[in-house]
Amino acid sequence: MDIVIATNNIHKLKELKAVLKGYTLRMPEEYGINFSYDETGTTFFENAIGKAMALYNSLRNAGKSIPVIADDSGLVVPALKGEPGIRSARYGSTEKGKKLSAGEKIDFLLDRMKGITDRKAYFVCCMILFAGHDRFFAAQETFHGEIARSPEGTGGFGYDPVFFIPEINKTVSLLDDKEKNRISHRGKAGRRIQALLNSLY
Ligand code: IMP
Repeated sequence: MDIVIATNNIHKLKELKAVLKGYTLRMPEEYGINFSYDETGTTFFENAIGKAMALYNSLRNAGKSIPVIADDSGLVVPALKGEPGIRSARYGSTEKGKKLSAGEKIDFLLDRMKGITDRKAYFVCCMILFAGHDRFFAAQETFHGEIARSPEGTGGFGYDPVFFIPEINKTVSLLDDKEKNRISHRGKAGRRIQALLNSLY
């Protein structure tokens, strides 16, 4: 069964493919849709449902009723009053300005954390399955760790090089995809959605 994923982030797609087994995950462009969505919501949920609904409606207008999965995710640092939060992808840049590279965002975050001893942080992933007209399901999960003093590792994406997991004494960048998916916000939300899919179809 085909499901369209509301993302252009190949890292996210790769992680989702490893979790949502038994379904064919497709990109919007495979249906001739050039998908982009302005994340104007004030919560991960608002952005995820907005993305999911926008893509579902675009497909429907093109005569295709296909389930859609969208996720909105980000890093939350309580000592920074929740930064970068829903602005994780645009951290350190203005709303219309050019996005910083992943490395620049990490430098910006480490700079903001200078002198802060409470390094606790967590990722959030809100995942929506838009299953039909006016019909959707949501799962939001978290992944707790700490912000390292400096980046370590090259795997993963985004803030992974500075997201340290004390229990395993490693940053997420040092984990392989399978290990990350087992404990990550996206892996956990994805498995909830997978269970829903299995019960629906
Ligand atoms: P969005 O969900 O596409 O709006 O982007 C979320 C942003 O949060 C990404 O661009 C990353 O900077 C960050 N992020 C979300 N999930 C992860 C993750 O698993 N590892 C590292 N960074 C992440």
